[in-house]
Amino acid sequence: MTASEIRPARPPFIGCGAAYEDAKFVIFGAPFDSTASFRPGARFASQAMRTESRAIETFSPYQNRDLEEIQACDAGDLELPLGSAARALDEIEAFTSRLLDDGKIPVMLGGEHLVTLGAVRAAAIRHKNLAAVQFDAHADLRDDFMGETLSHATVMRRVWDILDDLGGGIFQFGVRSGCKSEFEWASGRVSTERFKASGIEKAAEVISDRPLYVTLDLDVLDPSEFPGTGTPEAGGMAFAELLDAIIKLSGKNIIGFDLCELSPHYDTSGISTAAACKILREMLIAFG
Ligand code: MN
Ligand code: MN
Repeated sequence: MTASEIRPARPPFIGCGAAYEDAKFVIFGAPFDSTASFRPGARFASQAMRTESRAIETFSPYQNRDLEEIQACDAGDLELPLGSAARALDEIEAFTSRLLDDGKIPVMLGGEHLVTLGAVRAAAIRHKNLAAVQFDAHADLRDDFMGETLSHATVMRRVWDILDDLGGGIFQFGVRSGCKSEFEWASGRVSTERFKASGIEKAAEVISDRPLYVTLDLDVLDPSEFPGTGTPEAGGMAFAELLDAIIKLSGKNIIGFDLCELSPHYDTSGISTAAACKILREMLIAFG
């Protein structure tokens, strides 16, 4: 699929069978994992989620609302040139631009975390004063990773580069891994809540009605609940804490969001894919 032709996925993610014209949200897969520094495999996440979504209900007992009430279209997966991060990001930016220009809220399923940069590029051009909330075990603020400036370990640094508000555009939660220089660089530039999501209400207040992009690197969850990821980090959030934080962002001016770094081949029991599906359902309902 490219920006010029949108073909709905058959079958779509459960409860997301709206026509493109009617949709508020448009889901698409960005199956790219070429810069994964440890274990690749996130390219298989979006298809695994579509299949696994048959196992979840469309109704949310947490929010007392059904996904069927939300107009969401699943547009399938982009065809991305594995091996070329720059060209993959161009494709993602072009597709996200099309969605934003059509008045849709893009919902990207990675892929590794680098794919976020393509979507944020499209959003930052169209939304002045864009803010970003990042849930992640990793800071992702390196300037380069082994000489590469485009990597899932640098993605939020590249996002920072293009935001207008270089003093307060990024709000991180759950971070428990990074090098010393990343944390030092972040001080005064990025708002980082280590280990937890406890600062989410304050962040929501500070963000106010600014346009907001939410990026969820699923490795923010504890590996005991979410083992299926390329770079697992012990000591993470519980599902319930993450869900609570997401729901606290409902009502914000969310212009796009993504879920990244599910790697189904490390998910031998299937629990990670099932959790990712449930979180996507909850995000669509919370932001819808
Ligand atoms: Mn990340
Ligand atoms: Mn991470």
